[in-house]
Amino acid sequence: SKFVYFFGKDVTDGKASMRDLLGGKGAGLAEMANLGIPVPPGFTITTEVCVLYLKGKKYSDEVLTQVEEAIDKLETLNNKKLGDPEDPLLVSVRSGARVSMPGMMDTVLNLGLTDKSVFGLANKVNDERFAYDCYRRFISMFGDVVLGIDFDKFESLIEDKKKELKVESDTDLDAKALKDLAERFKGVIKLEKGFDFPQDPKVQLQMAIDAVFDSWNNPRAITYRKLNEIDDSWGTAVNVQTMVYGNRGNTSGTGVAFTRNPSTGEKKFFGEYLINAQGEDVVAGIRTPDFIDTLGNKIPEAYNQLVDICGKLEDHFKDMQDIEFTIQEGKLYMLQTRTGKRTAASAVKLATDMVAEGLIDKETAVTRVKAEHIDLLLHPRIDPNAKLEVIAKGLPASPGAAVGKVVFTAEAAEEMAEKGEKTILVRTETSPEDIGGMAAAQGVLTVRGGMTSHAAVVGRGMGKPCVVGCGDISIDIKSGLFMVNGHTIKEHDYVTIDGSTGSVIIGKVELIDAEISDDLKKILLWADDIRTLGVRTNADNPADAGLARELGAEGIGLCRTEHMFFGEDRIPAVREMIMAEDEKSRKKALKKLLPMQKEDFLGIFRSMEGLPVTIRLLDPPLHEFLPDKEELDAKLRELEVSGDCGKIDEVKKVIKRVVSLKELNPMLGHRGCRLGITYPEIYDMQVRAIMEAACELTNEGMQIVPEIMIPLVGLVKELSITREEVCKMAETVMAEKGVKIDYKVGTMIELPRAAIVADQIAQEADFFSFGTNDLTQTTFGFSRDDVSKFVPIYQKAGILEHDPFAVLDQEGVGEIMKIGISKGRSVKPDLKMGICGEHGGEPRSIHFAHEIGLNYVSCSPYRVPIARLVAAQSTI
Ligand code: PEP
Ligand code: MG
Repeated sequence: SKFVYFFGKDVTDGKASMRDLLGGKGAGLAEMANLGIPVPPGFTITTEVCVLYLKGKKYSDEVLTQVEEAIDKLETLNNKKLGDPEDPLLVSVRSGARVSMPGMMDTVLNLGLTDKSVFGLANKVNDERFAYDCYRRFISMFGDVVLGIDFDKFESLIEDKKKELKVESDTDLDAKALKDLAERFKGVIKLEKGFDFPQDPKVQLQMAIDAVFDSWNNPRAITYRKLNEIDDSWGTAVNVQTMVYGNRGNTSGTGVAFTRNPSTGEKKFFGEYLINAQGEDVVAGIRTPDFIDTLGNKIPEAYNQLVDICGKLEDHFKDMQDIEFTIQEGKLYMLQTRTGKRTAASAVKLATDMVAEGLIDKETAVTRVKAEHIDLLLHPRIDPNAKLEVIAKGLPASPGAAVGKVVFTAEAAEEMAEKGEKTILVRTETSPEDIGGMAAAQGVLTVRGGMTSHAAVVGRGMGKPCVVGCGDISIDIKSGLFMVNGHTIKEHDYVTIDGSTGSVIIGKVELIDAEISDDLKKILLWADDIRTLGVRTNADNPADAGLARELGAEGIGLCRTEHMFFGEDRIPAVREMIMAEDEKSRKKALKKLLPMQKEDFLGIFRSMEGLPVTIRLLDPPLHEFLPDKEELDAKLRELEVSGDCGKIDEVKKVIKRVVSLKELNPMLGHRGCRLGITYPEIYDMQVRAIMEAACELTNEGMQIVPEIMIPLVGLVKELSITREEVCKMAETVMAEKGVKIDYKVGTMIELPRAAIVADQIAQEADFFSFGTNDLTQTTFGFSRDDVSKFVPIYQKAGILEHDPFAVLDQEGVGEIMKIGISKGRSVKPDLKMGICGEHGGEPRSIHFAHEIGLNYVSCSPYRVPIARLVAAQSTI
């Protein structure tokens, strides 16, 4: 089989669709070569080889032969030989996984230089300084990346040399100095490793290939994969490519660019470059680069060609591209093209613009926006009316506002996050080692670097607000502070950053909710046309219901009536009801609650007019509405001191009731329909309130669609008894009001038993709604309220991949749901079924809900747009 794929002007084996095998970089290079776009020739060793190599740390003969052949071909094509003392072929060796992992794995440049071939290079380019600069860079990079020697060991020799020659910058070192440095670097290798720096380019190449494969498993790559849910088994490809130089004078340069603005989505070529520099200089943020527009004035021909190529790439890939290029003495070479990472705002704009341009269709547009993007767009931003003390400005690298305490190291950010503290990570510049800390912080602020620096790229990828290149800041880590424009900010002081404007603001600024742009509205409307899954909301007050409706909810899937019982004006009546000794006094208390409940329903029905509203009757155990026992005991002690006998008796009575209601396991106790059956007057009151409200509004001419839902049913009789009671009351109220309403009575499926006997239960139900919170609790036997004690540990240990209360457990809970669905529909094929647990707003769980044939998901208002989008994506 084929393990090595060549790319170049006349021979190219690979193509874009081979990304899994060739990695993103390799596939992109092959595709560009196929399109006739200038790329320096080279070859890609497949990810398959990496996987095999990582298993056994060796290569088959077949692989070795194919690499040999590819080198021969490359030598012929370039008319240069590796290690040639007259005119050597030099190559770069780079990683390239299936999905981009910026800066996580290793790269070696200038490979092929040796003590002999460095002469050849110097002669050929007629520049001894340049040749030795390449050589010393190569030795140190090889020492660092391939041999694992601390880069500082080389760096300090450069510093020594500069001191010795009394010069300031690396560029002041002449050929002789660099030659001497190369010698010293070789000495470091000999000292550290006990062997000489290899002088055979083929040995160099083999070692570099091994190192790139090995770098798949370096700690920062592993962390990055974990954070981005990238499969550890994929491996990386290796790209061996002819070197081109952007540091050959003022008609040379190198840059990175996006075919459109990755931050705003604006259709404008966007990027940065450096004249007379090597590629890594731009990405590393060592020199601050120039904006791409100005390249046209400096190297016009290459610039115009670059703009043409960008157009060609977009037309071909039908998406915004992220490119790398080098200009060597006026001649342009493309080094990379890949789908550009983008901010949430730009994803939406790009998708809608490209539909308008006829580049993509609406379905494609809907897949271009991710659930996380919407999440971000609905994220808080700075209140425009807030008084801000802006202390500095940097580049707006990743939008959104973030507030937190200043920390200066990634470790500190991670430690603080563990304590639940919010931080802003402030660094001179970030490096791949910092990603754990970047993930843990609310936002990232850097002193150096451009819009394509590490912090910017990774920040955007993570959706983390990020301000970079804030050059006014000077960090003093030792004293634990930074200074900027006359302000001193200490570690753990609050700052706010605005990744959309680049502002750095002193203190803790108020943030407000975001709103939905017209472009996003467009995408969501397209999604609505595509999706088959309904989207409802979980809401229990008119404000939330109204908000959810604005965000696109098609009704309420769960109105938890107990939330209304907690209102300040209600709690006395609720307590009176619970304290009641007999049915008569309980009914008296319930009578006080009736008008309040009815008010609630009037408001909710009004804001959901014309749409279904599923109202769940009381679910939690009664003790939840009484004060805490300890609180009562303390009050009693207080009263005993003051001697207020009347009150003492009252408190004693409450304590008695609290004790009598105490349950060992209230989540499995006297709750849900069990309450309804034992105290039917409670559900009677609620149904009366619902139906009176519905009838009155119907009489006003509104269309009201009430769906009454019974919680925690496990036995069919629980449902049949409760249903009968509900219907009796509903009929009574309708008769009183003289209206007929098409109301429904359904049940939650939130106990495994209910799913298993769903055929029986369906006989008594007009609809099912899967309560996956309780279903997860009862399927796992995990207490909903106590999981935080062990689930994080389970996740770390790999026992659980996700918290099952956040991401639906498809193989366990999901299977039980499937049983419920098929048994339910075996009796009533058209039985409407939804999900109203927290999972209803979680993308993976929404996909699952679609797959197993639910009719709708119901989620909190802010997740409604996400659900609309994901539901559409599920059908595509
Ligand atoms: C559920 O159990 O999934 C549900 C929606 O009900 P609650 O969370 O109120 O128990
Ligand atoms: Mg429940």
